[in-house]
Amino acid sequence: MKKVLSVLLTVLILCTGLVPCVGAKDAAEYANVILMIGDGMGVNTLALAKQERGITLFMEDECDLRGYSETRSSSSKVTDSAAGGTALSSGVRTTNRYIASYWYDPLCWFSVPRTLAEAAKLSGRRSGVITTDTTDGATPASFSAHSSDRGNSTDISTQQAKSDLDLIWGGAVGTFSSALAEKNGFTVLTTKSEMDALKPGSKSFAQFDYETMWHVDAPEGSTSPTLSDMTEKAISLLDNEKGFFLMVEGAHIDKFSHANKPAEAAEALEEFDNAIETAVDFARDDGNTLVVITADHETGGITLVDGKYVYTTTSHTGVNVPLIVFCSNDLIENGRPIKNREVAERIGKKMGLDKFPVSDPGKITAYFRDVTGLLTHINPGDEVNPLLSIRTMTRNLFANLFPKK
Ligand SMILES: [Zn+2]
Repeated sequence: MKKVLSVLLTVLILCTGLVPCVGAKDAAEYANVILMIGDGMGVNTLALAKQERGITLFMEDECDLRGYSETRSSSSKVTDSAAGGTALSSGVRTTNRYIASYWYDPLCWFSVPRTLAEAAKLSGRRSGVITTDTTDGATPASFSAHSSDRGNSTDISTQQAKSDLDLIWGGAVGTFSSALAEKNGFTVLTTKSEMDALKPGSKSFAQFDYETMWHVDAPEGSTSPTLSDMTEKAISLLDNEKGFFLMVEGAHIDKFSHANKPAEAAEALEEFDNAIETAVDFARDDGNTLVVITADHETGGITLVDGKYVYTTTSHTGVNVPLIVFCSNDLIENGRPIKNREVAERIGKKMGLDKFPVSDPGKITAYFRDVTGLLTHINPGDEVNPLLSIRTMTRNLFANLFPKK
């Protein structure tokens, strides 16, 4: 009788325990999301890559939906990668140069917008960002840190080293502290062979050789993986029953477009396209993964002159950029543009996040709780100088009130 009762009790506990689980799972349409950002990749950058390389593009030919993202920031019709990254990571438009912080609170004193990478962790998923840029670059930083300026490298690297994310991989940067990252449970690595040896469940922080990751084939003697190598390995490490979020950035499309180097920009785009194919192969096989490809802005003002795609500027432009979707028929409407911040908002819905966009407490709250936090913040060696930041904040407040036409 005792045995029967205990079996009944076990069944009861299991059932009541399972009900909310099933409910929570139903709310999320996808366990996994892979968001791929071709930095500086405009509609004509795709055409330029096809012209330069004589290739077709997987992202164009195989996609389920194709629309556009409107890229402006809160302060300017032409965004930079910090505000552009923030719109895509957090679903809010902010001032150029701000990293996942509000235009009205750049010091992050009162609140910060939660990023998709952070929200994924809070939902029980694994989460990571990978880039061909240095790890403190504006795009990866917009998913893994909050700061008043993209140039606050020490602040960004410190936040990343203390981050809850499962992996942050990119080019090496001098402000990164291996000791701090290791203290926080990260395995720090610098080569492809070390990356290949990583086991699922580990936390890893990669500081690769910045020069070679963007190539289609790693050059002779390179110790770094290519972007598609990184994408394949990151997916295998993050994949688990609770799901994952991964941001993949092809940063060199932007860098070579600033330099007006079509051959290099085209190769960087082809490698980004290879990484997309890797992600989509996994997603189609898995059946529970959404893949979204877009850009933060266009770079180089590429246009068709005398039958050839050419650069017309070394800066960013404000034109709409491609928004390409795999494994969904309703994330966007074919051919219709949406705002950059809506990309994050819609992804949040598909992940079944309770609220998104949503704010987290800023640092001032933390300071009241932790005096050492305040002392760290006003350390003279810290690049986040509150007085300088107040000047920046005032200037940027005016930029938002009276945006440049
Ligand atoms: Zn740029």
